[in-house]
Amino acid sequence: MDAALQSIHEKVQNEQRIDADDCRALFASNDLLALGRIANLARERKNGNRAFYNINRHINYSNVCYVDCKFCEFGQPKSSPKAYELSMSEMERMGREAAAQGATEFHIVGGLHPDLKLDYYENLLRTFKSVAPGVHLKAFTAVEIDYFAKISRLSVEEVLKRLIAAGLGSMPGGGAEVMTERVRKLVFPNKIGAERWLEIHRIAHGLGLRSNATLLYGHVENDEDKVVHLQKLRDLQDETGGFQTFIPLSFVPYDTQLAHLPPPTGLSDLKHIAISRIFLDNFAHVKVYWIMTGIKVAQLALNFGADDIDGTVMQERIVHMAGAETPEGLHVDELVKLIREAGREPVERDTLYNIVSRAA
Ligand code: SF4
Repeated sequence: MDAALQSIHEKVQNEQRIDADDCRALFASNDLLALGRIANLARERKNGNRAFYNINRHINYSNVCYVDCKFCEFGQPKSSPKAYELSMSEMERMGREAAAQGATEFHIVGGLHPDLKLDYYENLLRTFKSVAPGVHLKAFTAVEIDYFAKISRLSVEEVLKRLIAAGLGSMPGGGAEVMTERVRKLVFPNKIGAERWLEIHRIAHGLGLRSNATLLYGHVENDEDKVVHLQKLRDLQDETGGFQTFIPLSFVPYDTQLAHLPPPTGLSDLKHIAISRIFLDNFAHVKVYWIMTGIKVAQLALNFGADDIDGTVMQERIVHMAGAETPEGLHVDELVKLIREAGREPVERDTLYNIVSRAA
């Protein structure tokens, strides 16, 4: 290890917090094995040998969206032949089917639809609760919540209270992208910026909701943008303690407006997992999202800082519309096998990291 990594290694060994300059040094290094060794130390201290997964089902109710982020092919104008809207009866069927397959979580997100009103989203949550009362509803990114507040002329707090009353259990971490104005102006100029995203999660945490946080890397951002992003998340977590899991998202460019960019490499994926684990010392979990990294990198990531490999997913649309070549879902046996092969102990969890035990 070079001197900078050696010093960071010592800090992590002594459970001292690293600072933004240390984080810059981590990004500047290409000594992947050293990064992995330091990250693994932090990972095993928090989560031992366990690697978490869940049985979940993604429900993308509609991809109609007016925002037009350059990295996204999922969001489509209403007039597009690729636009869709699932009917309530179709979603009921999906909910029943997933619950019968043992799902403990529905992950529900969609585009910013110009016509749907807040009562549609309340109704959607109630519908899932009626067909699968025991399944946790992790729904709506901060971007959607901001939009619901605007279209209903209510405060974020009022919107969240109404959604909680309808069954909302927690919030996913999407929509953060890269939290600097420089990157926002380049690739998602029509979407909320960092301060609003953070404010919405702060309000959600204040209402007792847990949430996740993400970073979409591998497009136009630079290392400094990512250091700023991670620092903002760590600061909010110091304040509220409401984040559960950090999820670095590996950009899939193929069918997007940024298709000219090369996708992140496996080395870059592992590096982002490792650096997140080392810097975000107040996040209990770092997840590798196999849908975006691919299964092989996800398996390796379990020894580079990740302690969670996401879930079965069952039918992913957002990343696959961008051209992802991974499967749209994995059987639970495959997830367990991947984890065991990596030398980790598979542990099924629910959304809030309660351990799920099932009769053999
Ligand atoms: S990332 Fe979200 S807000 Fe942006 S275009 Fe896609 S669906 Fe719409």
